[in-house]
Amino acid sequence: MHKGDHTIQTVANLIVGGGIAGLWLHARAHAAGHSSQLIAPALGGGQTLLSQGIIHGGTKYALSGALTGASEAIKAMPQRWLDALAGHGEIDLSDVQLASSHQLMVHNDSLSGKVTQFFASKALRGRVESVTPPAFLPANTRVYQLSEPVVDTESLIRSLAKTPGIGAGVVEKTEPESGIVTLADGSKIQAEKIFICAGEGTEDLLTQSGLITPKMQRRPLRMLVGQGPLPELWAHIVGSGTKPLATITTHNGFWYVGGNIAEQGVNDSDFLSNASKQLQQLLPSLDLSQVTWSAVDINRAEPATENAARPDNPFISTQGRITVAWPTKLALSPALADQVLPLFSTAHSEPLPWAAPDLALTPWSANA
Ligand SMILES: Cc1cc2nc3c(=O)[nH]c(=O)nc-3n(C[C@H](O)[C@H](O)[C@H](O)COP(=O)(O)OP(=O)(O)OC[C@H]3O[C@@H](n4cnc5c(N)ncnc54)[C@H](O)[C@@H]3O)c2cc1C
Repeated sequence: MHKGDHTIQTVANLIVGGGIAGLWLHARAHAAGHSSQLIAPALGGGQTLLSQGIIHGGTKYALSGALTGASEAIKAMPQRWLDALAGHGEIDLSDVQLASSHQLMVHNDSLSGKVTQFFASKALRGRVESVTPPAFLPANTRVYQLSEPVVDTESLIRSLAKTPGIGAGVVEKTEPESGIVTLADGSKIQAEKIFICAGEGTEDLLTQSGLITPKMQRRPLRMLVGQGPLPELWAHIVGSGTKPLATITTHNGFWYVGGNIAEQGVNDSDFLSNASKQLQQLLPSLDLSQVTWSAVDINRAEPATENAARPDNPFISTQGRITVAWPTKLALSPALADQVLPLFSTAHSEPLPWAAPDLALTPWSANA
């Protein structure tokens, strides 16, 4: 299908976007026997390959000493992912590497008694366990192990990329009533159902399509990347607040640091110096002086909420043939697919003869 070719091909279901939302949905649709075609310029680009890969079970959101809306919605996700990773889940992710089977929660000494009691309570039984600190932390540090796995996002995207029916391309606009989709190369296709899983690209796509809702919000982060002599660590470092001070994950030997450091770093003109000093203060027994630091600016793209608060649940909105879908967290992609799959057309269409997209780069694949 090229510019100038006037035959409009038809597809039953078109997924726009090759992040985790689109790829998980496409794999579920394929497993359910639906005709599904996914289009994206590169797989994993946008947020997914820049995420930390933590399959949250909600414990991070329980730092206020109670289970919040977020922690309840997300509770079932680690097991669904673990089943898929073990090869007996809703999709087969048995070739995906588990970076870590758990995430640690390390107390920066001032966790409130209320939260400590809550961690030991029945509500979190089986999800939080007190453990001996790793060798590089002082022996008196309080460390909890959360039953929240961390996936290697590169192998995740590589695995999902094997699902048939994925093509390279950029969608310029869609027509909600007719289902006509115009690609950036000028070619057109017609889709019975269109699922927009385009992350931050959703806003432009909706504008081009003449839709003013749903509204999108961006929550910016400046992530800290460390390369050098670093132990492998997957941990939230928490203090007395309700959000982790730093969330550290390890990817190909690089540290990737989010949490408050990344939220507050957005407006810091001396970010690398300040953030690395802060991290050194949080982990005084580690020598971080030989580490080279860099920054990654990235927006979380989500449905707009009041006061730009973090949304707790996956989000979908349908107008005509178009459904917009934001998972709001990588971990929630299975829950998003549960909501979207019933909207799929059961019509049959042949896969389009598109070339496969490449995988997007990560800071560690690009620099390694
Ligand atoms: C720094 C960071 C860390 C995070 N860590 C975690 C974590 O540890 N755990 C967790 O659960 N969540 C985490 N998240 C959230 C999670 O990454 C996102 O919720 C999730 O990746 C969103 O997936 P998505 O597929 O909706 O969007 P994206 O991953 O952004 O993918 C969007 C896709 O759409 C494509 N696209 C865009 N426009 C078009 C167009 N016009 N035509 C065709 N294709 C288009 C893009 O190329 C891309 O393939 C993190 C987010 C950030 C930013």
